[in-house]
Amino acid sequence: MPVALDLDTLLVSSMLVTTACGMLFLFEAFHRRDAIPSRWWGVGFLCTTAAPVFYIASSGVPELLWLVVAVGNGIVITGISMIWVGAQAFNGRRPTVGLALLGPLLVTAAALFDRSEPEAWRGGIVFLVMFAAYCFATGVEFWNQTGFRYRNAAVLSGASTFLGFFYAGRAIALWICGPEDPFFRSFFGPEIATLVVMFMILISSFSLIAIGKEQFEIALQRAATRDALTDTLNRHEFMRKAELELRRLEGTGTPASLLLVDLDVFKKINDTHGHPAGDRVLVHFAETARAALGPKDLLCRYGGEEFVILLPGQTARQARVVAETIRTRFADAALVTDKGTVRPTASAGLSSAEPGEYDLERLIAQADDALYRAKAAGRNRVGAPAKAA
Ligand code: GH3
Ligand code: MG
Ligand code: MG
Repeated sequence: MPVALDLDTLLVSSMLVTTACGMLFLFEAFHRRDAIPSRWWGVGFLCTTAAPVFYIASSGVPELLWLVVAVGNGIVITGISMIWVGAQAFNGRRPTVGLALLGPLLVTAAALFDRSEPEAWRGGIVFLVMFAAYCFATGVEFWNQTGFRYRNAAVLSGASTFLGFFYAGRAIALWICGPEDPFFRSFFGPEIATLVVMFMILISSFSLIAIGKEQFEIALQRAATRDALTDTLNRHEFMRKAELELRRLEGTGTPASLLLVDLDVFKKINDTHGHPAGDRVLVHFAETARAALGPKDLLCRYGGEEFVILLPGQTARQARVVAETIRTRFADAALVTDKGTVRPTASAGLSSAEPGEYDLERLIAQADDALYRAKAAGRNRVGAPAKAA
C-alpha cells in the first residue's frame, strides 16, 4: 500500500469520533424523553468506542489476545446491532433485542472456540458476516420505515447497505485469501476497515441527527396545521390553503365550490351517549368525507361539529353530488355505544363561485346561509343559497 496507515492511530481517531457521536445521542435522549432511538444509537456508538480500547490494550498483553479478540469483537457487534435496534425503534416497531444479542454471543463464541492461527483473526469470518448482516438489516429497516417521508432515510439506508457489502466483501476475501494476503491487507485489512467505518459513522451520525430533527419538524408541522381529533386541516391552515387555491384558480377560469357541514343535534348525541361517543361520530364524519373527496379538495374542521370543504374546479351541480354522497353515507352509519346506537346525520350548505368572483369570505357566508336553510327545512339535507338555488 502506497500510504502507510498506522492502525493504533486510526483506532484512537475512530474512538474519538464514535465517542463524540455516542455522547451526542445520549445527550439528546437525556433531554427528550421520546427520543427512544437516540438511546439505542448512543449505546451502540459507545460500544464501538469501547472495542478499540480493548484492541489497543491487547498490544501490551499478548497472552490475553484470545480473550481480547473474543470480547472486543462481541462488543463491536453489540454496537452495530444496537444501531439496528435503534432503527427499529425509530420505525415505531418493538425492538427485537433477543436477535440483537444473539449476534454478539455467536461472534464471541466463534472467537473462543476457534483454534486457528493467527490468534488475532480467530472467529474472524463469523464476525465479519455478522457485521454485514446487521448492516443489511439496518439498511432494510431504514428503507422500509419511512416510505421516503424522511429525506435522510435514503442516506442512512445507503450508508448501512454499503457498509454491509464492504463487510461481506471482507468476509469473502478473508475466507479465500487469509489475513496475511497482500490483497486482503490492501483492500479489506483492519486499517482500511477502520477508515471506512469511521467515514460511515460520520455520515450516519449526521443523518441520524437530521432525521430526528426532520421527524420533530413533521410532528410540529402536523400539530400546527391539523385538527388532532379528526386529522383534518385546522381552520387557520384551511384559510391559508383555500386562499392560495382560489388565487391559483383565478388564472385558469375554472369554478370552485364550498360546503359548510354541521352535524345535526350533536349536543343531544353528547348528552345521551357521552362525549367520547360524540368524538367517535366526529372522527367518523371526517373519514366519510375524506373517502368521498379527491386529492385536491380541502377538508377542514371549522370548529366544534362544523366542517368546511373546498372543492376546487367543481360546479355547484358537481358539488351537490359530492355533498349528497357524504350526507347519505354518513346517514347510513350506525355507531354502537354502551347507551345504544347512534345514527348521526349532517346538514350542509353549498356555495359556488364563478371565475373572477372568488372570495373565500363570501363563499363561506353564502354556504352558512344555505346551511341555515337546510337546518330550518328539517336537517339531514343539502341547502343552497338563495341566488344559486
Ligand atoms: P344543530 O342540529 O342545530 O346543529 O344542533 P347541535 O346540537 O348540533 O348544535 P349545538 O351548537 O347546540 O351543539 C354543538 C355541540 O357540539 C355542543 C358541543 O358540546 C359539541 N362539541 C363541540 N366540539 C366537540 C368535540 O370536540 N367533541 C364532542 N364530543 N362534542 C363537541
Ligand atoms: Mg354547530
Ligand atoms: Mg350541529
